[in-house]
Amino acid sequence: MNGNKSNLYDAIIVGGGPAGSCAALYANKIGLKTIILEKSRFPRDKVCGDALSGKVVRYMKELEILNEVSKLEGSTINTITFGSPNHKQFNVYLTNRYNKNIIKEGYAIKRSIFDNFLFNKANQLTDTKLGFKVNKILYNNKKIIGVEGLNNNNNKEKIYAPIILGCDGANSTIAKKLGLYTDLQKNSAMAIRCYYKNVKNLKNQIELHFVDEVLPGYFWLFPVGKNTANIGIGLSKEQAKKDTRKLSTILDDVTNSNFFRKRFKDSKKIDSPKSWVLPLGRVKRINYGDGFMLLGDAAGLIDPFTGEGIGNAMASAKFAIKIASKCLEKNDFSSKLTSEYNKILWTKLGSELKTSSRLQDLANYRVLLNFVMGKASSNKNVQDIISGMLAKEIPKERLTNPLFYLKILLS
Ligand SMILES: Cc1cc2nc3c(=O)[nH]c(=O)nc-3n(C[C@H](O)[C@H](O)[C@H](O)COP(=O)(O)OP(=O)(O)OC[C@H]3O[C@@H](n4cnc5c(N)ncnc54)[C@H](O)[C@@H]3O)c2cc1C
Repeated sequence: MNGNKSNLYDAIIVGGGPAGSCAALYANKIGLKTIILEKSRFPRDKVCGDALSGKVVRYMKELEILNEVSKLEGSTINTITFGSPNHKQFNVYLTNRYNKNIIKEGYAIKRSIFDNFLFNKANQLTDTKLGFKVNKILYNNKKIIGVEGLNNNNNKEKIYAPIILGCDGANSTIAKKLGLYTDLQKNSAMAIRCYYKNVKNLKNQIELHFVDEVLPGYFWLFPVGKNTANIGIGLSKEQAKKDTRKLSTILDDVTNSNFFRKRFKDSKKIDSPKSWVLPLGRVKRINYGDGFMLLGDAAGLIDPFTGEGIGNAMASAKFAIKIASKCLEKNDFSSKLTSEYNKILWTKLGSELKTSSRLQDLANYRVLLNFVMGKASSNKNVQDIISGMLAKEIPKERLTNPLFYLKILLS
């Protein structure tokens, strides 16, 4: 192996977002020597809804960082509000009787704050280089031996390891260099986000509204503390391409609509709307090979229905480190071994991603959304069924079964 003591690692982590920072935290737990190479400097923004779901909370507990995260600036979330195209609404309370998990809340914390916290945690335990943009994979006899990039002095620098973890997000350089990026762009969504001050009626709740202006996508309102709301819309890339309106125009159409106008009357945009791509976990993409694994958005693991990706990025970090450790133990970095990462990933996340893909397709049916949400807004039984599904006590797959709708009709 090339490299000397100072630039030779067990694994190189490219990207210091949730996938990269958590990979470093999991690696540290089992004594692996890693380095995070991150092109930005923290705190940095990441276009996102900023919602940290129950899954994120579970991994934060495991990493023993939940207590500190709960004290960061932001909001504690205990309710999810759903709105239908004809503006019927219902609430799901995370404290509902179906939720037998210990976790009864989520958070909405700006990514500039959350990612900065996570990265600093990792930085205390592992080597890091900020302002380091990876632009090349290094090979010896066709085997990956490290990466090269431009460091913060704009000089070329090489870092060595027998395995690299691509945690560099939706536009992953690592995926591009390995020829896996085109696939990553298929089955993607587009979303736009803007921070607003003074939106009325913000509570400890995240709101998802399936409004006509965005269907089959949705409009979200998430409170992120200090009277600030993270507002945005998300829709499939295919749909965004077909629509003649710009995403920022669609967002304005919603906030100016009859239904939302009052809530936005005294509000003020505090930044310019920013859009970003969401690689959805609708398909199994190639995320491993000789000497590498792709994690988080670089592997295309975002939930197709909810748009959540932080939890799955953290999950992928845990699984990838488990396999990286096995590779080091056996001194075998071949795709035969890294394919085990793919197996764990799809065993753990596969059925959930499959159901969410079907639900994303169902959102095309306006009548169905009005029907289910209309029933839920007036019927406690239906609210309970949906609460049970969110708490994973009732299988979400039922939503894709016609009998489920018959049951709702009769309830
Ligand atoms: C508009 C929008 C709303 C969303 N809302 C939510 C939400 O509310 N909740 C949720 O859970 N998920 C949400 N997501 C998804 C979530 O943002 C991603 O799934 C999550 O950020 C994935 O984490 P990651 O670490 O894989 O990638 P990122 O967070 O994108 O981190 C990648 C890192 O790699 C660095 N990098 C990139 N290229 C290089 C390079 N060549 N060299 C070195 N470093 C590099 C980047 O600077 C970055 O820091 C949303 C996404 C979008 C676009």
